[in-house]
Amino acid sequence: MYYIFGIIILVAVISLYYYFKPEKKVTKDVFNAEYYRGLNYILNNQEDRAFKIFTALMDVDSSTIETHLALGGLYRKRGEFDKAILIHQNLLSRPTLEQELKNQALYELAKDFHSAGLYDRSEKIFKNLSEFSSYNLSCSEELIKLYEVTKDWDAAIEIVNNLKVDEINNHKKDLLVSQYLCEISSDHYENSEIERAVAVSKKAQKSYPDCLRSLLQLAEYYSSRDVKLSLQYYYNAIIIDESFAKYILNKIIGLSKNSENDSSVLDTVNTISEIKSLTFIPDIFIYLFYQLDKETALRYSDKFRGNDEFEEFLINSTIVISGNEDIVKTSMIETMLDSYKKIFSKDFLFLCKSCGYKSTVLNWLCPSCNNWCTSSPKTTFDLIGANAKNVRQ
Ligand SMILES: [Zn+2]
Repeated sequence: MYYIFGIIILVAVISLYYYFKPEKKVTKDVFNAEYYRGLNYILNNQEDRAFKIFTALMDVDSSTIETHLALGGLYRKRGEFDKAILIHQNLLSRPTLEQELKNQALYELAKDFHSAGLYDRSEKIFKNLSEFSSYNLSCSEELIKLYEVTKDWDAAIEIVNNLKVDEINNHKKDLLVSQYLCEISSDHYENSEIERAVAVSKKAQKSYPDCLRSLLQLAEYYSSRDVKLSLQYYYNAIIIDESFAKYILNKIIGLSKNSENDSSVLDTVNTISEIKSLTFIPDIFIYLFYQLDKETALRYSDKFRGNDEFEEFLINSTIVISGNEDIVKTSMIETMLDSYKKIFSKDFLFLCKSCGYKSTVLNWLCPSCNNWCTSSPKTTFDLIGANAKNVRQ
């Protein structure tokens, strides 16, 4: 009995092997002269001529299908979406196209539609293709990119949550969900729906505890209602990402414009001044100098002496600015911010760690390389300092 059963399985396996074994395509290696002529046009950047030859060849020679796929991709990269669409639609119009090649052409066509801004058509193809298990992940990733462009955050969250992988488009799943929630929160805030904004930012924080953005949002939302809570969120944000310390310090000191909050702000600045891993921050020195006394400020700056000559220069310059005897005591904070503005531009430049894109606004999604959370704030002084270090090395 087992013997017969074994033979049946063996026969089935052998039949399946022969059924699915890739056929040797004899025509694949037999290219005609026209094909080489077309290839030559591509190499000489004469894609128009190549395109005509390949289109003519496509009807007679199935071996050029992959070349067409490559050519279509090439056109898309060059921004000639109409030509890319035409090539891929041409391929799809072949009645004898195998399923796998058809899927490949559809995938490319959906990418063309996305690039051309025809999002509905792109979405439809990607959704259908994602039903095939081999296309599920790649199509889901493309759909996520599409929803990021169209700002359909709920749809993006749904896809991310349904995928059983840890990373999507080179980002952790939790990080993506938290960013999408922060986007939704930001929309609520702009519509003055503060309670909803707070709730969604808290959800983002819960789904990804390292989410700096949700902490900054909560700090901002609470800044006019509960300064102590706002300060706590800002402090937690510095702990999560110290490269944002100067940027956040600026916001913290901004809270002291209302004199009622002075003591809470001072406590927070003092606590931050004790964080050993931070570099010298002029805002802290100037704030301590005006809000407390010169000795406390100098005690703070002394901790950084001898670390680095550029930092030394920053400390000395900060002391010179702060030592201005003419400062009128009553408008201490304004004067402090003004003098700081004069010497070190308070405006931050946001630099993408991944592609080097510079912007005057903080982009959580880099418009150049499409990565999340890769931009960090730099002062003019940071940029000069980094250059100086590079020159010295
Ligand atoms: Zn970038």
